[in-house]
Amino acid sequence: MASYREITCRAILNKSGIPGIDFALNPYTGCEHKCAYCYAVFMKRFTNHSEEWGDFVDIKINAPEVLQRQLKQLQTKSHISIGTVCDAYQPIEEKYQITRRCLEILRYFNHSVSILTKSSLVLRDLDLILKIKEIEIGFTITTLNPQIKNLFEPDSSPVSERFKAIKILSENKIPTWVFVAPILPYLTDTDEEIEGLIKSAQESGARNITFDSLNPYPRVWHNVIKIVKEKFPEKLKDYEFYYRNKTLYEKRTKDRILNTGRAFTIKIDFAF
Ligand code: SF4
Repeated sequence: MASYREITCRAILNKSGIPGIDFALNPYTGCEHKCAYCYAVFMKRFTNHSEEWGDFVDIKINAPEVLQRQLKQLQTKSHISIGTVCDAYQPIEEKYQITRRCLEILRYFNHSVSILTKSSLVLRDLDLILKIKEIEIGFTITTLNPQIKNLFEPDSSPVSERFKAIKILSENKIPTWVFVAPILPYLTDTDEEIEGLIKSAQESGARNITFDSLNPYPRVWHNVIKIVKEKFPEKLKDYEFYYRNKTLYEKRTKDRILNTGRAFTIKIDFAF
């Protein structure tokens, strides 16, 4: 279980370098979903935590008040993305409701909002989501295989719950999408798995499915390889190949995904 600490923040809307996103809104620092491939691990150096990434969460208790102040100062219509370096619907949100209180404020301003999550807890806020004029919700889903999911993202919602949440949001006319990020090379990239993900995304009503490859940042690579070594030692050589030939792997995988995707009507995108 993660350790929790209440903190105050000076700003909650932070300029984003991500294309298409003007501001990032992260109600928490840290993420108890503890995904092995989490690229947000770099955030740890901005904290004074000695715990591993995934083992602590700082709760920005004054986020709603700060958000209101910043939104009042914001002159131009902007795109605000919730949950770029944490999951805004990680388990502690159930108790603190910081994300919910931020949505309560956002609905009075005319900005477009996106949420990226791995949690069906987002459904709790459907009443508010329906009141925001421009909103879309993405669900990160990397695999249909529960064993692999539990190894690489041990504390996130079951995948079936995420697809159920997409279905409910879609039925309520909220645009949704599936983010397969990252594809775990030689583990979640079989044709069957890719077909299953595309099919489930389409059947749940998601508007598109976007695939991304694994970026071997040192800390991420270290964590992923640790699991591969322990649980799939026969794949180690493949991972070495991936590390040296990522571009070639990406090209081959993209071709296979496009080929598999031909049987479906859902839009398929790539982030690599
Ligand atoms: S849900 Fe996202 S932010 Fe949280 S640990 Fe997983 S990858 Fe990182």
